[in-house]
Formats: sequence, C-alpha cells, structure tokens
Amino acid sequence: MAIFDPKQKVIAGYQKSIDDKKNSIKKYYDEIGRMYYGQYKDMNLDVTKDINTRCDAVSTLYDEIDDLNIKILHEKGLKLCPKCRTENALTYAFCFKCGSRFDDPDAVIDEAAISGAPAAAPVTAAVPDPIEMEPAAEEVPAEDVAAEETEAPAEEA
Ligand SMILES: [Zn+2]
Repeated sequence: MAIFDPKQKVIAGYQKSIDDKKNSIKKYYDEIGRMYYGQYKDMNLDVTKDINTRCDAVSTLYDEIDDLNIKILHEKGLKLCPKCRTENALTYAFCFKCGSRFDDPDAVIDEAAISGAPAAAPVTAAVPDPIEMEPAAEEVPAEDVAAEETEAPAEEA
C-alpha cells in the first residue's frame, strides 16, 4: 500500500526500526546459543561474560522497541495504561478499563464531561435511548431544553 499520510510515514519509520532491532535480537540469540554450546562442548571455555554482554544488549533492544511502540501509539493518538497495558486515547486522564490515573502531560481532565455540559457528548456517557412509547409526562432537565428550543412541554395530564 502506498504511504501518503505523513503520520503513516513516521509510523512506518518506527516500524522499520523495530524490525531492525528484532533482527538484531535474533542475531544475539544465535550467538548466545552458539557460545553456550561451545562451552558445553569444551568445559575449559568460559563464555559467561560474553553471553551476559549479549543478554544486556538484548534487554536494551527490548527497551528500545517498547519506546518505539509507545511512539507509534502516540502518533495514532493512543497511549498505554501503565498498569493494565490497555490502549487509551492520549487525552484520557484515567484508564477506561482499570481506572488508573495517567500522570502524563497529555492527560486532560475533561471538566465538561464531569459537569455534564451537553455541548460535546462524551464518548463514555453512552446513555441508551429509551424506547419511544408515547409523549410521556416525563420531566426533562431544564438545561437540556434550554439548549434546544424553549417549547411548551407535552400537553397531557
Ligand atoms: Zn488500565
């Protein structure tokens, strides 16, 4: 697929970097395996230090891959919950799954959502529509009506 979106290009760059690092990890694993086998065959050989050096390198690569994955998510407008690793929107102040608080600078406490301002319907407050039966003499919250049109309530008593 052709890449037009500059954001997609950035993500592809990160992804390429991740693939390179994964290849490096594979090479290190190969080397570690060969070294270990060499030591198994020749008891006088001690490659512990060499193996440890490569294990450290692998750990570093894994950390770098984690960072890149976080950057990719960021490009997509997402972030991971540090507690449950669930993907959340970048602006969320709390994990939608486990409720953990985000301390990152992207987290925005949505005051509008908390105070229930009707302007921008919050995604989380998905209120199911009641099944319409007949114009019931139901009390409509005053703010909601004011936002729409000031019409007389249904005449039914
Ligand atoms: Zn969470």
